[in-house]
Amino acid sequence: MTDAGGVYEVAIVGAGPAGSAAALAAARAGAKVLLDRGVFPRDKACGDGIAQQGLDVLGGLGVTGLTDGYSPIRSLRLTGPGGVQAARELPEPAYVIPRAVFDTRLVAAAVRAGATFRQHTVRGLTVRPDGVELGGGLAARVVIGADGANSTVRRALGLPRNPPDRLAVAIRAYAPDPAPRPEQRIVMTGQRWPAYAWSFPIGDGRRNVGYGELASRGPLSRSHLLERMHDLLGDTGLAGLSDARAHHLPLSTWRPRPGHGRLLLAGDALSLINPFTGEGIFYAVLSGALAGQAAVSPGGTSAGRAYTVALRHRLARHLRHTGLVARLTARPWVVDAGMRAAARDQRVFDGFVGLGLGDGLLTPRLLAAVATAAAHRP
Ligand SMILES: Cc1cc2nc3c(=O)[nH]c(=O)nc-3n(C[C@H](O)[C@H](O)[C@H](O)COP(=O)(O)OP(=O)(O)OC[C@H]3O[C@@H](n4cnc5c(N)ncnc54)[C@H](O)[C@@H]3O)c2cc1C
Repeated sequence: MTDAGGVYEVAIVGAGPAGSAAALAAARAGAKVLLDRGVFPRDKACGDGIAQQGLDVLGGLGVTGLTDGYSPIRSLRLTGPGGVQAARELPEPAYVIPRAVFDTRLVAAAVRAGATFRQHTVRGLTVRPDGVELGGGLAARVVIGADGANSTVRRALGLPRNPPDRLAVAIRAYAPDPAPRPEQRIVMTGQRWPAYAWSFPIGDGRRNVGYGELASRGPLSRSHLLERMHDLLGDTGLAGLSDARAHHLPLSTWRPRPGHGRLLLAGDALSLINPFTGEGIFYAVLSGALAGQAAVSPGGTSAGRAYTVALRHRLARHLRHTGLVARLTARPWVVDAGMRAAARDQRVFDGFVGLGLGDGLLTPRLLAAVATAAAHRP
């Protein structure tokens, strides 16, 4: 459906994972509209790595069949910035599903649950006492800004974007993968740290490859990002790359307030990306789901407060811990010590995976294991 006016209970700007999860969670509201400037299927620059925790949130919203046709990946090979390797079984399998497929399946689930999808680019907002106008004759009682890293809703709230040292830039491409290794590979580098390249098999004859670093490291050209990716992945299979595309990653070490009266921010629009791993889909669907629930609570202007409280309750501790991890790992040798500890002990490996891909915490056991490995540096 293309642009056409209407008055809704809840309008969600952006139909990525955060927006679709919000629409699903708001299913019991009268009228909901899911707006996107794009038409689905649409591509999104992403490693396409879908962690189990995100799938669990979506399962809780009643979504099924998201991973159909894609095989679970059970191993992860990490190479630290100094070259230390930890290759182990993942505590829970992960999936690599191109976002053109994953996001389209999610939008379809939201529409099945009762949301209306409209193609509409939101260029600005007008907040009135009884609702919010979104242009094109569209208005809603509550608006959820799930419009990604360059969020228009966030800008309309007068909130600045992340400073360059809390913002990463990454490029992603697809490479031919005729004989896939059934593991996800992450290769970190001490050069321009924190930075890493990845190679994730999709299982359809391609793999998703990419490289990212902080925006503060200097002007980042496409050729620089691709060159670093080639250097780190170091294999010849990168001939025949397609769909190379870069995008920003607003890291959760810099976050605005989630709720502002009738306006709520979720996912990348709220800067929820894990500063250590760049994973954002779990946080997008979790925050989207909480925003959708809060949006249908009675009293439009209190939605923002209900959402802020719910998100704090669910994620504040984890976000504090990942912020601390980001500070501790500013020194690459700390990460290499972590890799040595993870190579020795599956529980340490699982702890890092929980911190990097879910809502895990920096436990005393993890800290002690890294400290011991650091004390016995080779
Ligand atoms: C290169 C790269 C690799 C990554 N790899 C991974 C990974 O492997 N795993 C992982 O978990 N995370 C990864 N991330 C992060 C992940 O992509 C994001 O965290 C995730 O997409 C956030 O979802 P979202 O719904 O908040 O935003 P998005 O997915 O960006 O969706 C926002 C939507 O809003 C729409 N929109 C924007 N502006 C407007 C407007 N004005 N009006 C209407 N619609 C609008 C857009 O068209 C888009 O569909 C990666 C990011 C990058 C850049």
